[in-house]
Amino acid sequence: MAMTTMRIGVGRRDLVTSDARPTALVPVSRSRDTSANQMENPSMTNPSTGSPEVQGYHAHVYYGPDSLPAAEKLHDTLAANFPVEVGQLRDDPIGPHPVSQFAVIIKPEYFQTVVPWLMFNREGLDILVHPLTDDQVDDHSIYALWLGTPIELKLDVLPRRGYRATLLPTAA
Ligand code: ZN
Repeated sequence: MAMTTMRIGVGRRDLVTSDARPTALVPVSRSRDTSANQMENPSMTNPSTGSPEVQGYHAHVYYGPDSLPAAEKLHDTLAANFPVEVGQLRDDPIGPHPVSQFAVIIKPEYFQTVVPWLMFNREGLDILVHPLTDDQVDDHSIYALWLGTPIELKLDVLPRRGYRATLLPTAA
């Protein structure tokens, strides 16, 4: 309806331009049909299909001397308002983390609660969100999600296996 209204009263040159548009849109409309078919395929509606088993997630909040107050505030807000385990602020590098950070342990079912909130409330802090599978190297590299600017991690200190119990979410 809007297209028809726009065509009325426009000059011939404009009509040529607008005639060209549907042709350019054909590939888009094809790809939309394809994804619609995938949505109807039950195997594609299960988010765990093709994914390794995940025991939870970590969010690592990085900070420096200047951003320490923001990190402390975020730490306290997370601990007070979310069903997560929040670790202490660690000024010294530890494991694969080359700079100061604190860790948040997130149960799988709370990912959608915590991570979107961090997206909007990270106060300029850089945050790594990684899954907890049976391969720590992959978790911190190819499976990693970054909010803000990625930090180069020391992947060579990580084993290709799962995590000790203290790093996993506690059982409900
Ligand atoms: Zn971690």
